[in-house]
Amino acid sequence: MEVGQQTEFRLDILRSLDYDVGMKGFFNRLLRIDLSKKKTAIEPVPESILQTYLGGKGLGSFLLLRENPSRIDPFSPQNRLIFTLGPLADTPFYGSSRYAVFTKSPQTGIYSESYSGGKATLSFSRAGYDAVIIEGKARDPLFLEISDEGVAFHPCQDLWGKETYEAEEAMLRKIGRKEAGALTIGPAGENLVKFAVIESERWRSLGRAGIGAVMGSKRLKGIAFHGKKRRDLADRPALKRLAQEFKERVQRNPIVPMYKKYGTPMLVSIMNTIGAFPTQYWSRGTLEGWEGISAESLLERCKVDSLACPYCFMACGKVSEVKEGRHQGLRIMGPEYETIYAFGGLCMVDSIEEIIYLNDLCDRLGMDTITAGNMVAFAIEASKKRRIEEKIEYGDVDGIHEVLKKIAFQEGIGRILSQGVRHAAAVWGMKEQAIHVKGLEPAGFDPRVLKGMGLAYATSDRGACHLRATFYKSELSGQIDPSRIKGKAKLFVDYEDKMTLFDVLILCRFYRDLITWKDLQDIVKFSCGLSLRKKDLRAMASSIIALARSFNQQEGMTKKEDKLPRRFFREVLPGTGKTIQSKDLEIMLKEYYQLRGWG
Ligand code: SF4
Repeated sequence: MEVGQQTEFRLDILRSLDYDVGMKGFFNRLLRIDLSKKKTAIEPVPESILQTYLGGKGLGSFLLLRENPSRIDPFSPQNRLIFTLGPLADTPFYGSSRYAVFTKSPQTGIYSESYSGGKATLSFSRAGYDAVIIEGKARDPLFLEISDEGVAFHPCQDLWGKETYEAEEAMLRKIGRKEAGALTIGPAGENLVKFAVIESERWRSLGRAGIGAVMGSKRLKGIAFHGKKRRDLADRPALKRLAQEFKERVQRNPIVPMYKKYGTPMLVSIMNTIGAFPTQYWSRGTLEGWEGISAESLLERCKVDSLACPYCFMACGKVSEVKEGRHQGLRIMGPEYETIYAFGGLCMVDSIEEIIYLNDLCDRLGMDTITAGNMVAFAIEASKKRRIEEKIEYGDVDGIHEVLKKIAFQEGIGRILSQGVRHAAAVWGMKEQAIHVKGLEPAGFDPRVLKGMGLAYATSDRGACHLRATFYKSELSGQIDPSRIKGKAKLFVDYEDKMTLFDVLILCRFYRDLITWKDLQDIVKFSCGLSLRKKDLRAMASSIIALARSFNQQEGMTKKEDKLPRRFFREVLPGTGKTIQSKDLEIMLKEYYQLRGWG
């Protein structure tokens, strides 16, 4: 029925299957959408798969490995884009309003995962699926409306080229359902920038390593969700009681008011004090004048309101409005620590208002701020070394702003920078200077100081990722000496297992010190009806970590790629004299492989 700009509406109902039967905590079904054929299908998710991997990262990794043909081009229509939920989505447990996405990354060529939170989780969950698999490629730009009533393919040539804020508003307006939530890409995703992200609620970003570009390659501008379905839990009253008891137990923990007041920018002062704040494209560990980009400065210079995801009492989100100066009135959610490090540290922008300005541009264009900051700082280095003709300086906000726009629209120097630092370094003959692992640029934790973060960057399946184990927490809190090498992998594996369970249930990272293993056992019992011991949960986490690794092995990745950029071994951080030795990494890796059984 689809013609021109009309909407095609399809609804496939698998009447023969009774989806109320199956694993508690899940809808026991997934939605498959083929954009090439504009076809949809509802398929059962076998109980055995859910029992083995639960949802979130477990289900997403299983499906990606099962579905994606090996070694395909990430921009091929065959590359699957897989969205998943966990068994806690749209339930009263705290920190659970999150969803996930998995694909093969165009930036790294390997496994890619990402998580985001907010109201869109509730809309997604109420559509009534555990996963949505998107394959194929639309002939013309469209956005999807996915609900418990069916799937609509909305042609949207008029939205192609629009920035994310405008596109999201237009999609929601078109749907006209106040309970709907929408995800969208911006020009960067459409133009296949390899670190394009997906945005929702204007400022929430999803998709390091170019998941937004995969969406763009499919000519998929966005997805809107709505519905009325609620998941059937094994024991809803018990989960509610657990949530209440949990809140009473932890809400006076000092980290709760810290997150509420300062959010992630509180890390700026901590990291600068210990000299681990990557500065001047990874050549220093402290920014002179960092006070101007600290959490305190944000609170003083901007009007800041806390914002919580649904079902959260920590409210780490900050909506900041610039009070004075050339950006007066500019309002964003953020900036988060990682954005402050990328533009403030690496590019040496020492004003919080100017970082907000650059953050806003990246959100509008739909680009990952961590990689964007790394790319601009790398271009500044290339400019200084005369590898490029352009003149770009550290701290030159307007120059940085121009480069970011060129990246998003693939213009001039932006064409090379849009491919990530591995590519730019190869083109400009700067491989020795480039900082990345497996093609992904690291977050704002220098492994010459926080050595466990070296192990994290080297082993993470999506490249130099800080989130899979969030091991900086243990090293910053004094739980383990940051300089310690021997015996470090054991605590690292503890963290990685627990955070993997968080990604399977899709719980917010910032609850990691509050939710105990006993809580995790109770959560799984009351949501899914499974009585699992701590060692069963850890075994599950291990098997899911192995799944992601199998995907990378299938793509040709070996242990040789578990490494760090050589600069971390060769260059000492000025001021502190800190460095990491290659043998330090070898020791940590050896212990890690043994503990994982990959000897
Ligand atoms: S702590 Fe922050 S990110 Fe986590 S659920 Fe709450 S508001 Fe969302």
